[in-house]
Amino acid sequence: MSIKIKNLTHVYMKGSPFEKKALDDVNITINSGEFIALIGHTGSGKSTLIQHINGLLKPNSGQIVVDDVDITDKKVNLNFIRKKVGLVFQYPEYQLFEETIEKDIAFGPKNLGLSNDAINKRVKRAMNMVGLDYDKYKDKSPFELSGGQKRRVAIAGVVAMEPKILILDEPTAGLDPKGRDEILGKIKDLHKAYKMTIILVSHSMEDVAKLADRILVMNKGKCILDGKPSQVFKEIDTLESVGLAVPQVTYLVKRLREKGFNISDDIFTVEQAKNEILRILNKC
Ligand code: ADP
Repeated sequence: MSIKIKNLTHVYMKGSPFEKKALDDVNITINSGEFIALIGHTGSGKSTLIQHINGLLKPNSGQIVVDDVDITDKKVNLNFIRKKVGLVFQYPEYQLFEETIEKDIAFGPKNLGLSNDAINKRVKRAMNMVGLDYDKYKDKSPFELSGGQKRRVAIAGVVAMEPKILILDEPTAGLDPKGRDEILGKIKDLHKAYKMTIILVSHSMEDVAKLADRILVMNKGKCILDGKPSQVFKEIDTLESVGLAVPQVTYLVKRLREKGFNISDDIFTVEQAKNEILRILNKC
């Protein structure tokens, strides 16, 4: 289940005085099971890109091939794409609307025309996947929950479609640290335990460093960097030139190296820094 994005260009309001090229000849291949972080300054084209991957937007030119099917082809059934690619928008809990959590999560699978039994199985599975106990929560109103729990219900609604590719746009925005850690833990589980391909749009370099196998950096509609965190976070000057940064701990390690400490420059998480500092102390 790979995603091949070929020469993708998208222009909003083409031909009008407000014309804006949001994607400019983007070429990316995402392999099955990868955990991708998509980063970039506001306005760099991230939302436009992810909306193409689940067929909400059509390009002006270029192609997106998901699982050998060209989803930019006008003849492609949107249900085909929705089954394969789940998109969790920013603040997805604003879209909760049913009176019970069970009904809300069942909404998507119902639209696929599944039997009641199959829908019930999917709801249970999705709730389990996001860490919500079915019996405890199924009859509750989604509006009674905490912010982090509401968001988990909203994510379960997309997960219940059982997509192979899950795209999440800033899934931790506005949550407190506990809610944020819970959501990130669940996303990690979805990737590891259920082998989903994950595309995470994030502004948190710390989260990206902890979770992603690969980082794509967008700027002015182009993908300007594409590599492992260890490669991308070495490009400090390029990242800063487009309004981004590296994780705080990477700046600390850089300063320590400048002061003459023999510390690895391959450090992007606090855990890695802790281990490296302990290694150095043990050698003293
Ligand atoms: P990001 O998600 O990285 O913030 P977007 O994909 O939302 O970036 O936006 C890319 C560019 O396209 C920006 O200049 C933005 O102003 C413009 N844009 C986004 N959506 C629209 C729209 N519906 N109509 C016109 N311009 C848009």
